[in-house]
Amino acid sequence: MQERKTRLETLRLELLERIRHYEAHQHRTSGALDKDLDDQALEVRNDEVIARLEDEARTELAQVERALARLDTGVGDHCEICGGLIAPERLEALPYTTRCKACADR
Ligand SMILES: [Zn+2]
Repeated sequence: MQERKTRLETLRLELLERIRHYEAHQHRTSGALDKDLDDQALEVRNDEVIARLEDEARTELAQVERALARLDTGVGDHCEICGGLIAPERLEALPYTTRCKACADR
């Protein structure tokens, strides 16, 4: 239980750091004016990829924080849908999950 919380907190810090990098990237590339068109097209595609990665990181961060909040209230091992216990192997593989396998697959 304690170990899972530590893993989640580590994951949370990693995600925050990743989001910070993505944001820095977005700011850095916004001033590119004197490049030729090919470079600009490449940069726009790159920005789209970064924006998508940032979205994913934010979604994952929200999930990690939800799992942490549930741990804090003592229901971290229980599925948020059916209330049943989440299998320890599943929590081991996906520390941020808040659903048992049956509910997640539904
Ligand atoms: Zn369930």
